[in-house]
Amino acid sequence: MTAFPCTRCGACCRNIGKLLATPVVGPQLEAVMAFPHAVLADGSCSKLGPDGCTVYEDRPLLCNIDAMHARYFAELTRTEFHNLNIAACRQLIREQRLPMSWAPRFV
Ligand code: SF4
Ligand code: SF4
Repeated sequence: MTAFPCTRCGACCRNIGKLLATPVVGPQLEAVMAFPHAVLADGSCSKLGPDGCTVYEDRPLLCNIDAMHARYFAELTRTEFHNLNIAACRQLIREQRLPMSWAPRFV
């Protein structure tokens, strides 16, 4: 099975404060509530380093798109779920004015 094509651009990690503050309902709330890391004043995750996530292999459920799919979104195909998330990644990359070459491509 193909893993989510994360480029480790860090755009979601810089936006984690906003994401955690967005009201969610249903099972996703579990993943939001379980997010274990501190959020810095600028809204970024304290585990974000200069080269991306410093705990990537042990990242929380909320940050693991394939694990989120298996747990909460199994009614969607993996491709459908990947593309929904890729659209969100691309939006964040645009908003943060990062190079679009860092954006994952639709599958
Ligand atoms: S915004 Fe998308 S591509 Fe960038 S680090 Fe987050 S999940 Fe990966
Ligand atoms: S734990 Fe890692 S992947 Fe998750 S928001 Fe923090 S830096 Fe990003």
